[in-house]
Amino acid sequence: MTFLDSFSDLLVDDPARTILRDARGTFTVDDVYLTAKDIALHHLGGEDLKGAPVAIMAQPGLPYVASLLAVWLCGGMAVPLCIDHPAAELEYAITESRAQIVICQRKLLPRIPKMRVRVEETEAMRPPQETVMPLNLPYPKAGQNALMLFTSGTTGKPKGVVHTHGALYAQITVLHKAWGWTSADSILHVLPLHHTHGIVNKLLCALMIGARCDMRAGFDAADVWPGLASGHYTLFMAVPTIYAKLIAHWEAADEEKRQKWSLGAARLRLMVSGSAALPVPVLEKWKAITSHTLLERYGMTETGMVLSNPLEGKRMPGCVGTPLPGNQVRLTTENGEVLTDANVQGELQVKSPALFKEYWHRPEETNAAFTPDGWFKTGDMAERLDGIYRIAGRISIDIIKTGGYKVSALEIENAVLTYPKVAECAVIGLPDETWGERVAVAVVTKNENEDISIDELREFLLNEMAVYKVPSRIKKVTNLPKNGMGKLLKNEIRNLFDS
Ligand code: AMP
Repeated sequence: MTFLDSFSDLLVDDPARTILRDARGTFTVDDVYLTAKDIALHHLGGEDLKGAPVAIMAQPGLPYVASLLAVWLCGGMAVPLCIDHPAAELEYAITESRAQIVICQRKLLPRIPKMRVRVEETEAMRPPQETVMPLNLPYPKAGQNALMLFTSGTTGKPKGVVHTHGALYAQITVLHKAWGWTSADSILHVLPLHHTHGIVNKLLCALMIGARCDMRAGFDAADVWPGLASGHYTLFMAVPTIYAKLIAHWEAADEEKRQKWSLGAARLRLMVSGSAALPVPVLEKWKAITSHTLLERYGMTETGMVLSNPLEGKRMPGCVGTPLPGNQVRLTTENGEVLTDANVQGELQVKSPALFKEYWHRPEETNAAFTPDGWFKTGDMAERLDGIYRIAGRISIDIIKTGGYKVSALEIENAVLTYPKVAECAVIGLPDETWGERVAVAVVTKNENEDISIDELREFLLNEMAVYKVPSRIKKVTNLPKNGMGKLLKNEIRNLFDS
């Protein structure tokens, strides 16, 4: 089975069902399908793309959803781009994905970098047909490539993570069951659409079951609180940073608003947190404000969701629960020995039908990500007590999690080094209550007497990379601490920022 199989069933059974809302209006299953089909026929030629990558540059709502489904209707692999990324980052994603076609919503055309690729501009408006037509476009099989998402590793630039239709279907159905999704659900969507959390856990889970997805252009606490209190939604999912910001917004509001928001939010049936560790004080404060114990879960771009606290029953603060159905997990030592004792930390490894297929055109890195017997190495340390898992942190200090985004210290260091004043640098993550970690850089300037400010460095880097990768703290030093082999001592560099 695939997402499209389920969506076709929905199209036959309940075409007039409202499943999507964006700034332009509300849309039925029929609307979404007809818009997707219009793009598939008029911009992709209705031909079988045979898994070829097609990049998507579209705003949250009908333009994004219809473009995604259009690529799938033609048997292509969708590569969703982040519409807010600078040209250099978009160019990297298009080049790395090897996409020959970009479907681009007309108003976003000026943001597409000038490169040798076919750009199909679309309005992504519902076409004027009235009736549901049978699906007669190329139809992807479960084993075919469906989606490429970018993720950062410890080395260099982000890699394309490829998921098949079968893996996506497995990721979605597991969550439907575990979190009790039904077509009566309605979710407020405020997450980015180039990351697994926003695409799979929220958007595709909602659409595949015929639930309703209200898509906002982005996160704005002033908009989310009235939304949560409106009584329109049953579900909310976000990263810990968003919950921290919502708490701060609630605390700054007057008593009348606080009461209204708290009472309204308490009526949702479930609120989920993930993509980064949920600090226990945030969980506790959120409970005091909304009466909800956030359901914390753990997953990765490569794996889909792996561990989850229960829908019913006790949710353990600071823990990520037990394996979701279909997931096998184990903890191993550095040498690969499997740990069986409770309370011992080891690397979390995963096997499941929902795992990614490969890092696109990077066979060596794909190979290195798995053990010889086929377990995916997450790079996260975890421990288990009474069968419940707790994430202890990442193995590599060079992976930073900020605002739910995974970023590579090395990638940022390479960019900082291109700034003319910089001789040497080291990028680290500093603990931060709101962001989880904050990207910070220690810099040695070429000319010792020269000053370098965070503002000038940020201005330079914002042309090169996504805003969440750009350091927000800087420390000028005369030397970077290194070991005898010349390797940066990042823990010591972290301490430099305490002073
Ligand atoms: P991404 O591929 O961007 O979703 O990032 C996946 C990484 O986020 C994991 O490898 C973990 O390091 C981290 N992560 C996700 N969920 C949690 C969680 N609940 N607690 C701690 N870390 C998490």
